[in-house]
Amino acid sequence: MPTAAALVDRLTAVVPDFPEPGILFRDLTPTLADAAALKAITDELVGAFAGGFDLVAGIEARGFLLAAAAAYAAGTGVVAVRKAGKLPPETLTEHYALEYGRAALEIRADQLVPGTRVLVLDDVLATGGTVAATCTLLERAGAVVAGVGVVLELAGLGGRDRLADRRVVAIREV
Ligand code: AMP
Repeated sequence: MPTAAALVDRLTAVVPDFPEPGILFRDLTPTLADAAALKAITDELVGAFAGGFDLVAGIEARGFLLAAAAAYAAGTGVVAVRKAGKLPPETLTEHYALEYGRAALEIRADQLVPGTRVLVLDDVLATGGTVAATCTLLERAGAVVAGVGVVLELAGLGGRDRLADRRVVAIREV
């Protein structure tokens, strides 16, 4: 049985100059479309934090796919961390810088029971701005960040350093 990392290597598409010139885009949609890969990735991320979280948060959009699978596997609920403007009020908002451009993320202000331990999942960790903003949002809502799981870590971009106070698990570093 291939490992999750081997399946990620085999199935992830690498697209030069998308969505902007100079960006090497790692497209995990073919990886997540593969049954064995989705299961291996989900099992590895859930297993790494087993017993340590009460809820899973997925970051829009590919993080939703991972978070729902992980929450189902772990028997928890799932929270969507959304791009700005998608959720009805009242929301909490965090603005942040991306590898390409700027963005903002939101959650519902009344969504979390204080003290809930939340596992944060996304597809790619690049500069870490997206995950850092997500962790700040969750903590502003009273949650405890149990850890961060990603499929791919772009190791040269400093995301892990930016999240130095978090436990970060990546299936694969590139
Ligand atoms: P960052 O905030 O810089 O860590 O960027 C992470 C977010 O942007 C994730 O939600 C990724 O989906 C996306 N992203 C950033 N860089 C890439 C890349 N090179 N390939 C694919 N997705 C990326």
